[in-house]
Amino acid sequence: TIKVPVKSDIEIAQEAAKKPIKDIANGLDIVEEELELYGHYKAKLSLDIFNRLQDKEDGKVIFVTSINPTPAGEGKSTVTVGLGQALNKLGKNAVVALREPSLGPTMGIKGGATGGGYSQVIPMEEINLHFTGDIHAITTANNALAAFIDNHMQQGNELQIDTRKIMWKRVVDLNDRALRKIVIGLGGPVQGVPREDGFDITVASEIMAILCLANDLQDLKTRLAKIVVAYNTSNEPVTVHDLGVEGALTLLLKDAIKPNLVQTLEHTPAIIHGGPFANIAHGCNSVIATKMASKLGDYVVTEGGFGADLGGEKFLNIKARSANIKPEAVVIVATIRALKMHGGVAKDALKEENVEALENGLQNLQKHVETIQAFSLPFVIAVNRFVADSDNEIACLMNWCETNGYPVSLTEVWEKGGNGGLDLAEKVLHIIETSENNFKPLYDVEASIEEKLTTIATTVYGATKVTFTPQAKKQLLQFEGEGWSNLPICVAKTQYSLSDDATKLGRPEDFEITVRELRPKIGAGFIVALTGDVLTMPGLPKKPAALQMDVDADGNAVGLF
Ligand code: ADP
Repeated sequence: TIKVPVKSDIEIAQEAAKKPIKDIANGLDIVEEELELYGHYKAKLSLDIFNRLQDKEDGKVIFVTSINPTPAGEGKSTVTVGLGQALNKLGKNAVVALREPSLGPTMGIKGGATGGGYSQVIPMEEINLHFTGDIHAITTANNALAAFIDNHMQQGNELQIDTRKIMWKRVVDLNDRALRKIVIGLGGPVQGVPREDGFDITVASEIMAILCLANDLQDLKTRLAKIVVAYNTSNEPVTVHDLGVEGALTLLLKDAIKPNLVQTLEHTPAIIHGGPFANIAHGCNSVIATKMASKLGDYVVTEGGFGADLGGEKFLNIKARSANIKPEAVVIVATIRALKMHGGVAKDALKEENVEALENGLQNLQKHVETIQAFSLPFVIAVNRFVADSDNEIACLMNWCETNGYPVSLTEVWEKGGNGGLDLAEKVLHIIETSENNFKPLYDVEASIEEKLTTIATTVYGATKVTFTPQAKKQLLQFEGEGWSNLPICVAKTQYSLSDDATKLGRPEDFEITVRELRPKIGAGFIVALTGDVLTMPGLPKKPAALQMDVDADGNAVGLF
């Protein structure tokens, strides 16, 4: 068994000796004018770096994904940070690229998303709270657009926007279920045009997706202009460009588009930028962050949210395709406790040894391995070791990998930082050098929406087929008519199951995926398909993580995990 660090994540993070961010930037040969300081330990990076380094060869991208997680997370961020630290210990120049945490889950169930134990990015409380204001800027741009739409209708509605067909919603970066469906504009003619409206969480907004997929400021503006906000009374789409506000929205995002530089506990550089959820959005940090990291480092370690069925599939089919990124290797994170849950063990019994349940649960890992193989990518399985894992359970998992010929590493980055991930780092470097890599996305964008969804559902989820509700069927025809069918698909689905039913753990069989609604995200450049009962504004749990939080008399954060 391994030792439990007696300290919580936040205690470890607060005690860490941080280097001034200038020193981290110096280590990457960033010049002074390219660094915009936000205090001593955070900085934004100028996009001019791309011009200066345009002839430099790009670093190799290592992509971290996982099995279907338990509610607490499986330690994907922890392993991503730990692997970056381990590569640096081996003398490689590695940079980590991560998403910005959303305040919704931070105050709700997770309490923070900056890794854990001795593999964290710091300053963790600032990264977890308001950071450099990017998410606030996105919220503001989103809500400015909502205000422009309502004002347009109030001022004569020249574009003939149909009040019943406005798709653009307001957003807030909190879990606030009471705002899911609202009525606005009540109170008579001077208060605006009454209509039904609703809020999504900011990290599910199209503006977040656009910021994360844009290559530069001009591309950001072009994409913002294409957002479809509503239909008019002749049922034609109305865009941001029709409203004439793409310039203003881009202006509101001119600093948010610059990626943020911080460090890990071991001073490995980390670029943290953009944070769409992986269940209800496309789930990866910005293209700019990944590309900047690969200009500055020889290796980039980055992740997609939740399992390979969500963040993994979307990184490979949406982000990598749109940004022309070719990952060199994939790390699939698995934990014994989650595999036991997939094998039928209840959450409160995970501490007891149960080799049989583990064996049952391995089919979930097997499915995700098959998914990565379907993308023709080499992989290493990283077993993120927890204190409660027994020697028998670890032996069972390692044997299973060996028997199947799957490269595997038992990692202890949570307990030991980079030193706990040296074996993983060596194995990842080895597969990059020796394995064949014929990466290609799973579907052709030119295929129909139905065909693309069927490929994702059958190949990645293991479903028998996709069915569409009458509403979704109508939309299929409508989207085809608009010329929107040749876009990638972003599926909104529960993270807990391969299916669209959160209670079906393990490797469900003989199930269908039901698409209940399609949403055009033309600026982002994909079509969202909503499955099951997944919602784009989460709610808080009975006992939110916020109950543990406080700030001491000196202004230090307490209880952010
Ligand atoms: P994910 O990225 O999969 O959501 P995180 O890396 O954010 O997961 O980790 C979720 C939580 O689990 C964090 O609080 C982290 O400290 C904790 N954690 C991760 N790995 C371990 C481990 N090996 N042992 C104990 N706790 C861990």
